[in-house]
Amino acid sequence: MFDGEVPERSKGADCKSVGLAFEGPNPSLSITEAFQTEGLSVYLGVYMAWYDRGVCFECQRCGHCCGGSPGYVFLSDEDLEAIPAYLGVGKDEFIASYCRKVDMGSYSQLSLVEKEDYDCVFLTDKGCSIYPVRPLQCSTYPFWPYVFSDRALWEAEGEECPGIGKGPVHAADEIRGKVRATLLHKVKTIVDAEVE
Ligand code: SF4
Repeated sequence: MFDGEVPERSKGADCKSVGLAFEGPNPSLSITEAFQTEGLSVYLGVYMAWYDRGVCFECQRCGHCCGGSPGYVFLSDEDLEAIPAYLGVGKDEFIASYCRKVDMGSYSQLSLVEKEDYDCVFLTDKGCSIYPVRPLQCSTYPFWPYVFSDRALWEAEGEECPGIGKGPVHAADEIRGKVRATLLHKVKTIVDAEVE
């Protein structure tokens, strides 16, 4: 679905066995290790090492992150191929029916439209109607760069998402992989097409 290799979710561990979702000594990657990879990883290694012992997360399927307030679900090139195919419509038809262009200043991105109550256009009483091909922005939540840039932001996100702090431990490598994929995903959402 995206270029970055995303390690498998950690298995066989839970919060108790590792400690706590939010605790840890705040170890940092060594400079050598950080510079073995590209600049993004350097950024992640230096600024996001607080989660090196992993964090606990398990979606509680409450639907809170799928609507209820204004927001954007930005789409990548991969999303713009997979979702129309899943729906059985052409890409242009999908963009015209389900997308809006968001002015980001020097560039634009495509986002899914929302219902009048701000719920995602694909949110139903039974949950996400495109779950198998849901956008990467959705499938990687809450493993987003902003959320992981500071422990306090992760804890604050826990006020919004009841899945944070619950369930199995997600190891640092998995977290870095998903955060990195999200960073790359954002680059891919730059679009030139005019969409009303
Ligand atoms: S807010 Fe958290 S627990 Fe609720 S649906 Fe979204 S990810 Fe799952």
